[in-house]
Amino acid sequence: MPREYSLKNTRNIGIMAHIDAGKTTTTERILYYSGVNHKIGETHDGASTMDWMAQEQERGITITSAATTCHWKKLDGTGDECRINIIDTPGHVDFTVEVERSLRVLDGAVTVLDAKAGVEPQTETVWRQATTYGVPRIVFVNKMDATGADFIMSCNTIIDRLGAKSCPIQLPIGAESNFEGIIDIIERKAYNFSGDFGRIITEIEVPEDMVDLMEEYRMKLLEYLADYDEDFMMMVLEGEEPEIDEIRRVLRIAVCNGDFFPVLCGSAYKNKGVQMVLDAVVDYLPSPLDVPSIKGTLEDGTESERHPSDEEPFSALAFKIMTDPFVGKLSFFRVYSGTAESGSYVLNSTKGKRERFGRIVQMHANSRKEIDKVYSGDIAAAVGLKNTTTGDTLCAENAPIILESMEFPEPVIELSLEPKTKADQDKMGLALSKLAEEDPTFKTYTNEETGQTIIAGVGELHLDIIVDRLRREFKVEANVGQPQVAYRETIRATADCEGKYVRQSGGRGQYGHVWIKFEPNEGKGFEFVDAIVGGSVPREYIKPTQE
Ligand code: GDP
Repeated sequence: MPREYSLKNTRNIGIMAHIDAGKTTTTERILYYSGVNHKIGETHDGASTMDWMAQEQERGITITSAATTCHWKKLDGTGDECRINIIDTPGHVDFTVEVERSLRVLDGAVTVLDAKAGVEPQTETVWRQATTYGVPRIVFVNKMDATGADFIMSCNTIIDRLGAKSCPIQLPIGAESNFEGIIDIIERKAYNFSGDFGRIITEIEVPEDMVDLMEEYRMKLLEYLADYDEDFMMMVLEGEEPEIDEIRRVLRIAVCNGDFFPVLCGSAYKNKGVQMVLDAVVDYLPSPLDVPSIKGTLEDGTESERHPSDEEPFSALAFKIMTDPFVGKLSFFRVYSGTAESGSYVLNSTKGKRERFGRIVQMHANSRKEIDKVYSGDIAAAVGLKNTTTGDTLCAENAPIILESMEFPEPVIELSLEPKTKADQDKMGLALSKLAEEDPTFKTYTNEETGQTIIAGVGELHLDIIVDRLRREFKVEANVGQPQVAYRETIRATADCEGKYVRQSGGRGQYGHVWIKFEPNEGKGFEFVDAIVGGSVPREYIKPTQE
């Protein structure tokens, strides 16, 4: 079968947010509007399709990184239909390693903010990770209908807290219970939403009292964009009016460049604005052709590159291993170059083992589609890979390469497990090796003195989930010991720490160093607000006396 969607019409994106900002709701609406998901489930009634693991539904958090495929043709009918692969990035801070591994394989992202809060601590964390991986982003200020929603305040936090170059390309008409519609600053048009799930979009007049604000932000936007194109700059300087398509063209360059972040607004819950986010994904986020080629190492040790082309030898990176109740082990991978057919053999060059692509599937919100061939730029899952773990390279047998791999942090917390019966003991051994295969940050070993089985992970919640899965999926009954910190350092906050990150020297293993942020806590000294492990911190956020 020839490829259905050209590389130019492919988007591999993530949706990133502080927990509770509305990432799940936004993703659900995307799947609904793009026609894949015909029922809208609210996250609070546990029917959402992205959070499909039982624990996630109970805990209301998103921890898995499944990839979901959907299709979108722009609202105005221009351009070709695009295939959008959504790689689910988790929001919880304990799972930043999961965020990192998904960031590794996507080309662009939508950052969802809560309009009541703007940028929040975890937004800063995932934002920095996305910057590290060079992921271009657009921002969606969600919850415009909620009490306390403030779009301009939210936009300002992007500039003030993230130090990012950013400008709205939409304005909300009204806010809170009066949130009625959206102004498109580029087109100078306004829209409202009606009908089932806001599917009917009607053009309305731009309210007179908003014209000045719209023009002010339009001018700001054009001035930002002038930096990205000389002809455009000349037009702006000479006061000429650029065409709408010209503004969009330069905005695409700015976004793909990775250092300009346009802001949209809406309410996923009230079905307002999500369709425009999809349009913006198509218009502004990069296709696999617009991002730097992936680097790798050949067998003889020389550095090489693979380009997004079906003509080059096959190369792909496995980024997530999951156990599916129906088909068993699923290995999600991103193809960087070449093609591969189901039933064919590939080389896992990281492990030096031959693997057979038994079946290849693409996941949709609530179904999976079997496909016979994958092409460069695709994201899919293979059934039947025996030796592949997260981070491994899969490639053509006659053209071995190891792609830049991912780095995983060392575990920092551990606890003991005592199986209740001999049968539990046997099941537990198998279960733990399976879990370790899925999750490179999870370790298990036997304490030589006590003979106890120890499991180690990157946070308490991480281990909670492992224990829960042992019980639920693998039916292992075990007594669980108290969590022990495998690595600890005492940190003191002083007055000049306020709002800054303080570097803790040393660290452990791949962590390198840890940055801790404190804020004053009324009458109680300082309160811990955020930690960054390994990554770097923008200069302005660092405590003055620190290097
Ligand atoms: P996630 O943690 O980022 O995935 O957030 P969810 O999508 O689970 O949303 C968290 C909570 O906010 C849920 O109770 C949602 O119903 C609610 N929510 C999501 N989007 C909106 C919105 O646009 N407006 C309002 N008022 N609530 C929303």
